[in-house]
Amino acid sequence: MFIDVSNLKKSYKSGMVTTNVLKGIDMKLEKGEIGIILGPSGSGKSTLMNILGGIDRGDSGRVAVDGIEINNLNDDKLTDYRRENIGFVFQFYNLVPNLTVEENIEVVSNISKSPLNIDEVLAAVEMQDKKHRFPRELSGGEQQRVSIARAIVKNPKLLLCDEPTGALDYLTSRSILKLLQQVNQKYGTTILMITHNAAIAAMANRVFKLRSGVIAEDTVNQITVPAERIEW
Ligand code: ADP
Ligand code: MG
Repeated sequence: MFIDVSNLKKSYKSGMVTTNVLKGIDMKLEKGEIGIILGPSGSGKSTLMNILGGIDRGDSGRVAVDGIEINNLNDDKLTDYRRENIGFVFQFYNLVPNLTVEENIEVVSNISKSPLNIDEVLAAVEMQDKKHRFPRELSGGEQQRVSIARAIVKNPKLLLCDEPTGALDYLTSRSILKLLQQVNQKYGTTILMITHNAAIAAMANRVFKLRSGVIAEDTVNQITVPAERIEW
């Protein structure tokens, strides 16, 4: 099992107040699959994703990704795990404003070890003509394409997308989802995506509904629908 999480717990303390966010998460995803996490705002979706990506830590439970027990890694090893295995895509793209498209991708560590290169990933996201532009010279959808290129250039095993279409209009969202589906098919990248749009669930192999700190529902889709054919 590529992602194997069992009884994962996480709480945040601020002063006297403790918030139990994850209260015993169980989830599994096979290599090469697309998983989608649905759930209300504040339910812990980003917390769960950040733990899987090695930018936060669980308090207890088992979190294994591709056989690596990430909860047991020290800080340096956790950073190595993240750099070697994980690509992130965020709602607001997180591009560096004073760097060009090409330079935004160049800053990724380990590119030299990757079978992919900058021109190839820019072509994959149809942004090869705009590599000398700055983020402010691009639309939201184009900026998200660049952030996807940046996330995939090191050929990550796991692509984590936290509300990747949350700031985009209907048509642009559809093209971004289609692109993520193409990345999944072309490179075999396992994708875990947070979204508020239940319609997207049709393109996933598994759908996890997070509620009150646990996975309240885990649905396996026998057939995934191409993004362009999903009715929203
Ligand atoms: P979601 O992504 O589902 O909206 P989050 O995982 O961002 O939810 O947050 C879940 C809960 O944990 C929220 O109540 C949020 O305020 C709290 N939380 C998230 N990150 C932190 C943090 N670093 N410190 C304290 N509380 C946090
Ligand atoms: Mg969130």
